[in-house]
Amino acid sequence: EVRIEGLRKDFGKATAVDELTLTVRDREFLTLVGPSGCGKSTTLRMICGLERATSGQIYFDDQAVGHLPANKRDIAMVFQSYALYPHRTVEQNIGFALKMMRVPRKTIDGKVHAAAKALGILDLLDRKPRELSGGQRQRVALGRAIVRDAGAYLLDEPLSNLDAQLRVHMRAEIKRLHAEVARTFIYVTHDQVEAMTMSDRIAVLSDGRLQQCGTPEEIYERPANRFVAAFMGSPP
Ligand code: ATP
Ligand code: MG
Repeated sequence: EVRIEGLRKDFGKATAVDELTLTVRDREFLTLVGPSGCGKSTTLRMICGLERATSGQIYFDDQAVGHLPANKRDIAMVFQSYALYPHRTVEQNIGFALKMMRVPRKTIDGKVHAAAKALGILDLLDRKPRELSGGQRQRVALGRAIVRDAGAYLLDEPLSNLDAQLRVHMRAEIKRLHAEVARTFIYVTHDQVEAMTMSDRIAVLSDGRLQQCGTPEEIYERPANRFVAAFMGSPP
C-alpha cells in the first residue's frame, strides 16, 4: 500500500501539488490523469524520492518514507524523459540496476532477454540510445523498470511516443505484467482511453489538486464536477 497524506510541493511561489491525499492499495493499478502541468510527474517524483515534498508524508505499508533517498525506497520508475545512460547499450541500460544489486550475470541475461522480447526490442540490444527512435527509447525505459523486483512500479507516460497500434499492444503487455508481478502500479497518462481501459481506479488532477478518485465507471458516470466531466468526456 502507498499512502499519500497532505502532500504538497512548491516551486518558489508556484504550487505544483496541493495537499494531495490518496491511498493506492496493494496490487492496485491506479492511474493519475490530468492536463499538462497539473502535477502528475512531480507527484511520482516525490513518491519515488527524487523530489522532496514541501510538506505532507508518504507511507509504504505504514512506514513513513519521506526522509529516505530514492535508492532506499522499494520502487521502480519509468521516467517521462527516459533517462537512459547514453554511453551504454540497450542491454546494459535494461540490466543496469540489477548489476548494481549484484544479481548474477546469468539471471540478468535471462531477465533482460525476457523483457526485451516482451517489448519487441530484442534486435536492438547492442545499440546505444542515440541510435534509437523515441518510441524505441521509451520501450527501453520501460524495460529498465520491469526487470526489477520492486514493491511498487511508477510509470510516467510510458507509451506517449508510440504509434497507435503499438500503444494498444503495449497497454496489454503492461496489464499482463501487472497481473504477473502482482504489485502496486501507479501509472500516469493524459490519455483518457488508456486510463479507462487499464485502471482499477483513476485519480483526476487539475492544478495540483485531486478532483476525484474512483473506478473508471464512477469517474465516467458520476463525475464529481465539471472539470472531471469535461476531461473524461462524460455524457452531459
Ligand atoms: P505533463 O503532462 O506535461 O508531463 P505534469 O502533470 O507531469 O505535466 P509536472 O511536471 O508535475 O506536470 O509539473 C507541475 C508544475 O510544476 C508545472 O507548472 C511545472 O512547470 C512545475 N515544475 C515542475 N518541475 C519544476 C521545477 N523543477 N522547477 C520549477 N517548476 C517546476
Ligand atoms: Mg509529466
